[in-house]
Amino acid sequence: MKKKPVIAIDGYSSTGKSSISKEIAKELELIHIDTGALYRGITFFALENCLNDQQEIDIKSLFSKLNEINLEFVPNNNVLELFLNGKNINQEIRDPRVSNNVSIIAKQPEVRDFLLDFQRNLAAKGGVIMDGRDIGTVILPNADFKFFVTASPEERAKRRFLELQHLGIEASYEEVYQNLVSRDKIDSERDVAPLKQADDAILIDNTNLNKQETIELILSYLAQ
Ligand code: C5P
Repeated sequence: MKKKPVIAIDGYSSTGKSSISKEIAKELELIHIDTGALYRGITFFALENCLNDQQEIDIKSLFSKLNEINLEFVPNNNVLELFLNGKNINQEIRDPRVSNNVSIIAKQPEVRDFLLDFQRNLAAKGGVIMDGRDIGTVILPNADFKFFVTASPEERAKRRFLELQHLGIEASYEEVYQNLVSRDKIDSERDVAPLKQADDAILIDNTNLNKQETIELILSYLAQ
């Protein structure tokens, strides 16, 4: 039997990477891994366990408690749901409070190191489509296929706003837009594993493509 591919999908926030990857996984019978969920899971843990008197995350306290964090992806109806120390946190990690803090947590080398092997192990057997920011550059540099997805910030903010509305999470368009721009900046400018296109990644700009058109474009490259 032909070995199933390892596919890396990186790119900006709210380009639809995760939902596109989920559909491609279904189509090609691969496992989809949303690595942003892992950084969100650690941020959620920090918000629950590592706040200082000003109710801000105390990063040193988080570092000292990293060994108390057990993240697991558990399958449910062909989708992997994230559990933190035995509790399903799939809904909690989408909260704007998590979104507003996640990039600060994700830029810490200690946090990235903590998640490195976990992510590599998930892809070790192949048959995986993994989405994130540094999958093609750092986590899986030998992936069989690499894509880098982008779209205009306005279009991305519109998509995220509608998604949050759908989830029943309250936030204004302006808040969502500012959060995206701020995350893009922190993610692209950080010292360790910044968000950038791998030299051998295929660029997909889906500003004017809907989800289905983006999926078809990516599938057309995978079929080559
Ligand atoms: O993909 P999502 O928007 O859920 O990711 C949340 C945040 O996690 C990103 O803004 C980024 O700061 C961080 N992240 C990362 N590396 C990854 C995936 C996500 O730094 N591979």
